[in-house]
Amino acid sequence: QPFVEIDDVAMRYGGADATLALSGTSLQVERGEFVAVVGPSGCGKSTLMKLVSGLWPSSSGSVTVGGREVDGPLPMVGMAFQNPTLLPWRTILGNVMLPLEVVEPHRRQLRAKRAYYADKAGRLLDMVGLAGFGTHYPHQLSGGMQQRASLCRALIHDPQLLMLDEPFGALDIFTREELWAQLQDVCLSLKPTVILVTHDLREAVFLADRVLVMSSRPGRIINERRIDLPRPRR
Ligand code: ADP
Ligand code: ADP
Repeated sequence: QPFVEIDDVAMRYGGADATLALSGTSLQVERGEFVAVVGPSGCGKSTLMKLVSGLWPSSSGSVTVGGREVDGPLPMVGMAFQNPTLLPWRTILGNVMLPLEVVEPHRRQLRAKRAYYADKAGRLLDMVGLAGFGTHYPHQLSGGMQQRASLCRALIHDPQLLMLDEPFGALDIFTREELWAQLQDVCLSLKPTVILVTHDLREAVFLADRVLVMSSRPGRIINERRIDLPRPRR
């Protein structure tokens, strides 16, 4: 059974002049697979991501992750979007640790593993070039640095499913390509299922096992290509 299954989903945004963002949209993603979704602006890529992430309910159709109907954000999912959306009143480290409060809702459990997670957060920040910035506040960092911190936040709890909506869009080309390699490393060791939305075809081909092309009116997957490139292995 596919790990992520989107079956004949429709999404209509509110009001009388409602936009039909998705209609008859279906998609299956195997466990451990890395798929990239490309397509023109406004074709419904972000909407699809929100439905799978449980941030919005679909108007009709079904979305399942790990065989269960999605009815809200799931702890096993890590998300990063085009905007870093860090909480301004928390330090970078405090922001990175945020998902743990959902995954480990009992304070005593979280305290017991605090050292483990603090160590992991440190390694993640180090990986994205933010060593030493854990005690800073978001406004003290550049946009690109905040974006990189939001990637650490998506990874802190070893998610089984990674939902990435143009996470590298705001970064310069050098940082971007470095993060591709690091994301590849994360995928090799953690083997998460990944759905990545991107405007960058090179990025899609470099990272994904399968590239899906979406078209607008209504948003639907109209084409796909399996990418058979030699991949680094451990
Ligand atoms: P993409 O990510 O491919 O650029 P989106 O999923 O953001 O596309 O948008 C798909 C369609 O839904 C667009 O026509 C957009 O205007 C509309 N849309 C997206 N978000 C909302 C919203 N919150 N309210 C109303 N319409 C929306
Ligand atoms: P980015 O490409 O991440 O947006 P910038 O071009 O703004 O970064 O900055 C380049 C580098 O300068 C950063 O990677 C970081 O090392 C340093 N830097 C930028 N802004 C700050 C800041 N507010 N505090 C500390 N270091 C910073």
